[in-house]
Amino acid sequence: MPKPKKNRFVEEPPSVFFFKPQGIPLFRLVQVVLGIDEYEVIRLVDYEGMQQKEAAEKMKISRATCARILESAHKKIAQAITKGQAIKIEGGSVVLGRNRYRCRNCDTFWGSAGDEETTLETCPKCKSDRVVDLGREVGAYPTRMERMKRGRGPHRHRERE
Ligand SMILES: [Zn+2]
Repeated sequence: MPKPKKNRFVEEPPSVFFFKPQGIPLFRLVQVVLGIDEYEVIRLVDYEGMQQKEAAEKMKISRATCARILESAHKKIAQAITKGQAIKIEGGSVVLGRNRYRCRNCDTFWGSAGDEETTLETCPKCKSDRVVDLGREVGAYPTRMERMKRGRGPHRHRERE
């Protein structure tokens, strides 16, 4: 399925990407998928209290697009909490400013700047390799996309894993 080349700018992937109502088995739940761009607008406008104009500039989108994404995000969240559905944050045509990682062992978060190696697979704190690549979990591959956009050559290793 071809995706529109919008490349909305998102600072970093969310800390968690799945919300589930308690006491209902996963297989019986309907999942609402919230795009990473929808998550980012919610974060900037509703959480940070930014004006839509400001949020739109930050995400490199028009004011109208920002309003549309926000409305769609509100509808999805309203539907999920009203009907008792799960929310999964995933997808959307975005470029991440940086990736983030979480250690499953000690719950440390850390990030990488856009141009750095994205596969930091060892926890800086406990040295565990049980690391969650949050960008990958939500379906965004920031630096690789940026690299392709800028026409750089293939990365030295782990281009596809
Ligand atoms: Zn750790």
